[in-house]
Amino acid sequence: MSVTVPAQAAYLVAALLFIAALAGLSKHETAKVGLRYGMAGMAIALIATVWLAVDADIEGLGLVLLVVAVAVGAAIGIWRARIVEMTGMPELIALLHSFVGLAAVLVGWNGFLLVEDDLDGEEARHLDLIGTLGIHHAEVMIGVFIGAVTFTGSIVAYLKLSGKIDSKPLMLPGKNLINVGSLVVFAGLTVWFCASPGIVPLILATVLALALGWHLVASIGGGDMPVVVSMLNSYSGWAAAASGFLLENDALIITGALVGSSGAYLSYIMCQAMNRSFISVIAGGFGIEAPAGDGDTDYGEHREVDAEGAAELLKSAKSVIITPGYGMAVAQAQHGVADLTRRLRDAGVEVRFGIHPVAGRLPGHMNVLLAEAKVPYDIVLEMDEINDDFAETSVVLVIGANDTVNPAAADDPSSPIAGMPVLHVWEAENVIVFKRSMASGYAGVQNPLFFRENTQMLFGDAKDRVEDILKAL
Ligand code: NDP
Repeated sequence: MSVTVPAQAAYLVAALLFIAALAGLSKHETAKVGLRYGMAGMAIALIATVWLAVDADIEGLGLVLLVVAVAVGAAIGIWRARIVEMTGMPELIALLHSFVGLAAVLVGWNGFLLVEDDLDGEEARHLDLIGTLGIHHAEVMIGVFIGAVTFTGSIVAYLKLSGKIDSKPLMLPGKNLINVGSLVVFAGLTVWFCASPGIVPLILATVLALALGWHLVASIGGGDMPVVVSMLNSYSGWAAAASGFLLENDALIITGALVGSSGAYLSYIMCQAMNRSFISVIAGGFGIEAPAGDGDTDYGEHREVDAEGAAELLKSAKSVIITPGYGMAVAQAQHGVADLTRRLRDAGVEVRFGIHPVAGRLPGHMNVLLAEAKVPYDIVLEMDEINDDFAETSVVLVIGANDTVNPAAADDPSSPIAGMPVLHVWEAENVIVFKRSMASGYAGVQNPLFFRENTQMLFGDAKDRVEDILKAL
């Protein structure tokens, strides 16, 4: 029996494990088991791939290079995963997506060069005989296109998420025309390439796709980056699936399709949660005009409070809602916040958490931190579950959140984050905002909440200030 049959069976098992992994990851309680399924599936798929390569014609130096490449890649991956901070995860994920995109471009080029090199050879004759040479060329173009868009799009996402470039949207004149025009030109290049395969249309398509990926993501503002990350996740899946067709690798096709479709669905859910048009975001901010901006608006004076003052307010409170954001993750304040929650609940205060769907820098970022600090799940509520309760709440503690509690999203149609649903913290009797300065949040928009009459700013690192409050209580 050829080695292909057991290897294909191994691919099938790996694909089933990936599906089980996705199912496991859909709930907190089963997420760890889900991850293990995913790791087992990936290990099986890797072993089967090396096995197939050995069985084909790879031996000697080729095999050594393959094993060394896998070992070096695995070592770098394990090292990066071990040292990455939770707050650095989105950047790392964006970078990993860029690798998938680059790999798809290289696989596409390889698919072209192999056949081109050997037009009278077995591979080309075989494809021609079964009438699929044209399909092969279309696959090359599609694989290269999706891969190149994913590659540069993910690099821009990485640069924006890591703060290396401004998160504000790039607003080139006629940006929608640029995007639509690029698609039309790409379709023309594909027809040209399929009719007379050559290196010129392939180079042009690669350069065009690299530029389009860059432009699409650069045109999207900071507030919409969560959708962009999941959208690039989806693109990287389709890029992998396209490579799977070229390499005739079923595991890659199935896995790519799983990642592509689940990423697309996640992007859709996030768009709904943020009141954004799915089409507009995937089309690089199609239909979104340059925001009027509020950089120069004078909101008046803000009030400050110290830890003792905050403790006094909390002592007399009946109900408290805590709305954490990215700053809680930066300060690693979740354990102090959990202690504060226990202390207040022991004193008979009702304490709950309000979690915005895009708080932090990862979907579920706050839930993970609170679970790590052993905050009970039943007092951690989603935005929609708690938004009507702020008006009856004595004190809201905004811990390192900014964009997700910005009333401008609800009140100011000219704001860059207009329309995005936010936590209505300002409706509470008292609001205490923990942050280090008056700086704006990720979307770069000033927050009028800080200047409201019922808001007091508690400046400093969130972890230190929470500990100060615990001492004062
Ligand atoms: P923001 O990023 O809007 O604001 C965080 C605030 O935390 C800052 O204003 C900062 O103010 C403060 N902060 C930072 N460090 C500390 C610290 N050590 N102690 C106290 N405060 C600190 O946070 P939100 O969670 O409200 O919003 C998330 C934003 O990120 C949204 O715009 C969202 O679209 C975007 N995003 C979300 C992703 C996701 O999947 N969840 C992915 C990518 C982007 P200061 O510097 O003054 O201390």
